[in-house]
Amino acid sequence: MEEAARIIPMFFFEVIVPLLGVENTTILGITTPMGTQNFYHKLLQLRGSKGEKIFRTLVIERICAKCKLTDHPELCTHLLSQNPSWKPADAAEKVMRIMECAPELLAREVGGVGDAYRKSDFDIVAINNWAARPGYPSLRHAAKHFIIALDPTGGGEHSEIGITCGFLDPVSNVFVVCGAHGELLSRSSPYEHNRRVITEFIKNMYKHCSEAVTATTIVTIVEAQMSRVQAVDEMAIIKACCQTVSRTGQSFVQMHNEKGEPGVSTTFSKKCEMVEVCRKFLDDGRLYFSQSFFCASPKEEERMEQRKKLLTQAAVFKLHVDEGRDPGFSAPRMSWHGKHEGPDDTFMSFLMLLYHTVQFFMRPEYAPFRR
Ligand SMILES: [Zn+2]
Repeated sequence: MEEAARIIPMFFFEVIVPLLGVENTTILGITTPMGTQNFYHKLLQLRGSKGEKIFRTLVIERICAKCKLTDHPELCTHLLSQNPSWKPADAAEKVMRIMECAPELLAREVGGVGDAYRKSDFDIVAINNWAARPGYPSLRHAAKHFIIALDPTGGGEHSEIGITCGFLDPVSNVFVVCGAHGELLSRSSPYEHNRRVITEFIKNMYKHCSEAVTATTIVTIVEAQMSRVQAVDEMAIIKACCQTVSRTGQSFVQMHNEKGEPGVSTTFSKKCEMVEVCRKFLDDGRLYFSQSFFCASPKEEERMEQRKKLLTQAAVFKLHVDEGRDPGFSAPRMSWHGKHEGPDDTFMSFLMLLYHTVQFFMRPEYAPFRR
């Protein structure tokens, strides 16, 4: 099969695949990559019952790893010396010049990289629309439940805490992000760091959204992938902070995982669901920032920085597929993150926030708290 990724799938399944049942038959396919959403790409990922790949694959890319991360991956010339003799460098240069106006095609046809331009698995236009929407003005009466999500730092270099909060407006069905903050761990212990950021964040939450927050039930979501004890601790800190500031008998709900253990998990399959929920909100235009958006710092410029940070992290968040330890035999490792561009913890906490808000309104065990 030549240009195999362009073959009509029905033709492939009805005409070519049945031939594989015949003795001594092999399919040999060669193609320009057409991205990861293509049927051919899915064929290449197929596994047998023992986890072995059905097709042996050889991927030849002409864009180096460094250039892949730039805005113009298609202009990479660092691998030209590896070209076969019938593809001299000066001819490649000519092709590049001619195709310059179509960078995505150039990356595919010459670079052999089908998704060099897929920086995020979210629609960038939808993210920009979210950023450009005017601040959500009226918080009074809008919220009955105020949701806080925390992705605590676990320690280690480049480890960040991410905390976000907001509410689902039951009338317009839009989600309003009221606050977000991400901060790199520095000097203090992870425990001290988490506690300080949480405390500052909650203080500002009551200051900037007091009319929305005081009359609501507070729902807390804490990631408990690493340690359940830590999650219990952090939920207690959030609750204590709220009670100190509000001085009223607010109700609290602490979300738990499917087994009823405190804290929520962020496994790969859970992240797939989170991404789906977020994509739906983004594409439907149902995400807003509150007019009185805040972060853990009282500084105006820091608030704008934190808002920008959340949006920037969303714009590089995507599914990464890495070859397993034994390419061709062990399963590829798949993970959702934006870490190739820096920390992604603020956006991670936002994904948790949105997903669990929907869970809170759907799952029967939370029904008593929804009234
Ligand atoms: Zn390069």
